Amino acid sequence: TDTAAPASEAAAGSGTRIRRRGLMLVLSSPSGAGKTTISRALLERDDNLAMSVSVTTRPARPGEVDGRDYHFIGVETYKRMVERSELLEHARVFDNFYGTPRGPVMDSLTAGHDVLFDIDWQGTQQLAANARDDLVSVFILPPTVEELERRLRGRAQDPEEVVRKRMAKAADEMSHWPEYDYVIVNTDVESSIRSVAAILHAERLKRARQVGLAEFVNGMRGAEG
Ligand code: 5GP
Repeated sequence: TDTAAPASEAAAGSGTRIRRRGLMLVLSSPSGAGKTTISRALLERDDNLAMSVSVTTRPARPGEVDGRDYHFIGVETYKRMVERSELLEHARVFDNFYGTPRGPVMDSLTAGHDVLFDIDWQGTQQLAANARDDLVSVFILPPTVEELERRLRGRAQDPEEVVRKRMAKAADEMSHWPEYDYVIVNTDVESSIRSVAAILHAERLKRARQVGLAEFVNGMRGAEG
């Protein structure tokens, strides 16, 4: 595992600790670009990364687990959550509503954990509007349109009509790539996982995310003489 701890460990002796603000890592892509595989691998390999589990009004697909993949809720519950500002962002995607529960994200960030989001461009725009400094956004593109179609058809549980609709929507979704910090073409899934891990690693080391750096350096200068 790789938690990219800042210099806080090294600072233990000097008495001044560097802490790091948690960051929000967004992965967006059209359905079928391989985003779910990448997210799962990142979570497995990184102890300091927590997944944001969204609410959705769409029915669960076979194999999906309530509370792990999504919180599956009714439209009434969704509307109530929106009214009460319990969602950090929310959007209609295709024919269903999706949203990010605010509480768990805030708890993770406060505890110093980074949070991974699998949300669309609409949700990413909303997060960017509210927390630009803490947001790192990555767009995953499929290698070719043929491969995208093959992957969408591979999901046998989706009816043909849904697949067609998603192919049409994929083009729409992909048009939003210029709004993201990073873009990865998912030709090889292992290499894509490593790329996202590298992005996360470097972003964690950004100066602006380190709290207490000035005190840390001053403490060392004081200790010199
Ligand atoms: P699916 O129904 O295939 O799981 O997801 C469809 C799309 O909804 C995906 O692009 C996914 O990223 C997006 N999505 C999932 N959860 C959320 C959410 O909480 N907010 C937003 N804005 N999009 C979401």
